[in-house]
Amino acid sequence: MARTLDCPICGRAAAPRPGNRAWPFCSDRCRLVDLGKWLGEEYRVAGERAGDGADRGPGGEEEEP
Ligand SMILES: [Zn+2]
Repeated sequence: MARTLDCPICGRAAAPRPGNRAWPFCSDRCRLVDLGKWLGEEYRVAGERAGDGADRGPGGEEEEP
């Protein structure tokens, strides 16, 4: 069993959890990169949905997060 995980961002070994508060990333930097990536994607999706929702006709039951 592997005790370390490969950082999803840079691919380097990430230290196991108790000592690594950025887990499963190798460092805070990679954690922030991943966070920014997710936020960027959500922004894009939300923007598309907002445009869609403003125009929605009858039967629109989608809930905005
Ligand atoms: Zn990393």
